[in-house]
Amino acid sequence: MKHVPERSCIGCGEKKEKSSLIRIVRIRENTSANDTRDAAGFMLDRTGRMNGRGAYLCDNAECLALAAKRHSLERSFHCRISPEIYEALTEAVRKT
Ligand SMILES: [Zn+2]
Repeated sequence: MKHVPERSCIGCGEKKEKSSLIRIVRIRENTSANDTRDAAGFMLDRTGRMNGRGAYLCDNAECLALAAKRHSLERSFHCRISPEIYEALTEAVRKT
């Protein structure tokens, strides 16, 4: 029996094979420790191997826009996410 790992997209909520989704990972940047609000950086992880808390998303900007509208990333990562971060992620999704 082969088990295919599935994850739900944080945008459309559809369940898909983990390998067909892109992972958004929160990485800690070594900026000043007292700025917890903006110290969090986010990256796209297409290898699925980066350390850190991750959320899964379909490989398109539409689902990211949906995730932004539904505040799914905030809920996944339990922090405030600025429009700049969404913009950067949208760009990263579009580019690749
Ligand atoms: Zn999706």
